[in-house]
Amino acid sequence: MTRDIAHDIVIMGSGIAGLRAALEAAKIGKGKLDIAVVSKVQLMRSHSVCAEGGTAAVLRSEEGDSFDLHSWDTVRGSDFLADQDVVSHFVQELPKEIIQLDHWGIPWSRRSDGRIAQRPFGGHSFNRATLAQDKTGFFEMQTLYDTLQKYADVTRYDECYATNIFTENGTFQGITVWDLNTGEFFFIRAKALVIAAGGACRMFGFTTYSLTATGDGMAMAYRAGLPLKDMEFVQFHPTGLVPTGILVTEGARGEGGYLINRDGDRFMSKYAESKMETAPRDIVSRAEMTEIEEGRGLTSAEGLGFVQLDLRHLGANRINERLPLVREVGIKFAFVDPIYEPLPVRPAAHYFMGGIHVDINAATPVEGIWAAGESACVSFHGANRLGSNSTAECLVVGRIAGEQAARHALSQKAIPEMPAERVRQEEYAVFEQFQQRSGSEDISSILSEMRSMMDAKVGVFRTGQQLEEALGKIRELRERVNYVKAAESTRVYNTSILSILETINLLDVAEAIVAGGLARTEWRGSHARRDFPKRDDENWLKHTLAYYSPEGPRLKYTPVNITMWKPVERKY
Ligand SMILES: Cc1cc2nc3c(=O)[nH]c(=O)nc-3n(C[C@H](O)[C@H](O)[C@H](O)COP(=O)(O)OP(=O)(O)OC[C@H]3O[C@@H](n4cnc5c(N)ncnc54)[C@H](O)[C@@H]3O)c2cc1C
Repeated sequence: MTRDIAHDIVIMGSGIAGLRAALEAAKIGKGKLDIAVVSKVQLMRSHSVCAEGGTAAVLRSEEGDSFDLHSWDTVRGSDFLADQDVVSHFVQELPKEIIQLDHWGIPWSRRSDGRIAQRPFGGHSFNRATLAQDKTGFFEMQTLYDTLQKYADVTRYDECYATNIFTENGTFQGITVWDLNTGEFFFIRAKALVIAAGGACRMFGFTTYSLTATGDGMAMAYRAGLPLKDMEFVQFHPTGLVPTGILVTEGARGEGGYLINRDGDRFMSKYAESKMETAPRDIVSRAEMTEIEEGRGLTSAEGLGFVQLDLRHLGANRINERLPLVREVGIKFAFVDPIYEPLPVRPAAHYFMGGIHVDINAATPVEGIWAAGESACVSFHGANRLGSNSTAECLVVGRIAGEQAARHALSQKAIPEMPAERVRQEEYAVFEQFQQRSGSEDISSILSEMRSMMDAKVGVFRTGQQLEEALGKIRELRERVNYVKAAESTRVYNTSILSILETINLLDVAEAIVAGGLARTEWRGSHARRDFPKRDDENWLKHTLAYYSPEGPRLKYTPVNITMWKPVERKY
């Protein structure tokens, strides 16, 4: 019999968004709310610890920054697909989060006058990326984690994998969870759920993301009937270290790093004359791919085309002080010390602008479910996110989701009952069915075929034909999963089953990306359709909503909120 556990609120994910939500819910609950945080990895191993360069916020109005300027940078960066009411509200909330973290004890890097330091970042017209060296995410996570220790009403479920979200009559009931350590399978029922389960970049081969970014939260929500929004917009970060894809923070260009081609030319002068290396990521990634495709790049031993990131002119002191992680990663993973040699880089899959459709209050269309962080799409980033705006969004939306979930939980009397029969079927679907299959297919081959295909066909540039082929391949791979047999039968850390579940999630999310991209016959932000090389505001100034169906995504559209600026051509 599946164990039945009850909490008032369950938070799926312990990255910056999940921890911020937990803290806010605990604060509002004042000891009256029982909160669970479920994470498939050890809490502090969430991808957020990898965030490097900074968190955007307006802290210097007396020196020329303003909410309007941050809003404008974000809206222009988004290629006008961001909802402007959301942008304007969030940029006003961001500084409060920076100060709150400061009060909770984060070691922000400081200027010589003692004030919090900020560095330049791509697409921002003011230096507003607030940093803690180049380990910003690590220190943010550490601070949130430390602060959470104060609250006895938060229960942690580390290394516990959520497999499904249950709703009835449009209302949240609970989630099924597999404890990887003990093998136990249980149901957590609750009055409210916050999905903060991160991104899905691991569907690509060359990516900056941890192995755990497999889109579970998005896929579960999608199959539970919640729409995914604007999935076709995938961000490629211009400086993935060759050959691994490990990130070299944009902070390196913010600190003054140059991008050069095989002839040593700073090629960005051709693509973004005034912003150069600190133009938005979609523009820099396309510039790099153009240099590589037109023969002005270099080629690695593995056959990867690349350009170079030159930091030598910054000098050893600045590199050691402001970019120590970049240096360490360069030496360890590319055998290149950036003090003496340029680093080999190329665009790497880095972020999903899309995610679970939520409104300005982080609410999904299902009562009792909120979503925050990278698994959600609140339309702050539109078609292209500016660097340092994501951790910022995780903090603000995490806070809002935690607050809303807490208020909802306080207003509800009873926790829903466990739907016992459906939970039993889920347990069968997770453990038994994969033992009984023919075993003619192998999950690691399916996964690696998906990754190479996504790299090749759903990359920095796309065409309708490539996306058609991608869709066909995704459907073929999804069918082949039905013939995979789990390699072992244990329930304790069965990585074979885990990999099957994660691959199914990645394929479902990939299908929404490709279907959305195929339908969107325009070039906007990160969605660069070579066969439709212009932005088409007349027909496509709208958000895509993908609804799950067994036959494939059903697409609907919803308008963009334009409150301040009408779309104009993007020039940098
Ligand atoms: C290398 C790197 C550097 C970055 N640098 C910056 C930066 O400088 N500035 C910036 O703004 N942004 C940066 N980003 C982006 C930013 O870090 C992320 O978008 C953000 O941290 C995502 O946080 P999150 O809370 O949404 O999810 P994550 O931190 O990814 O956490 C996801 C959580 O969900 C849990 N989870 C997932 N699936 C399940 C499941 N099935 N069951 C239970 N739990 C589950 C995981 O265990 C984890 O706890 C960077 C990203 C990377 C990869």
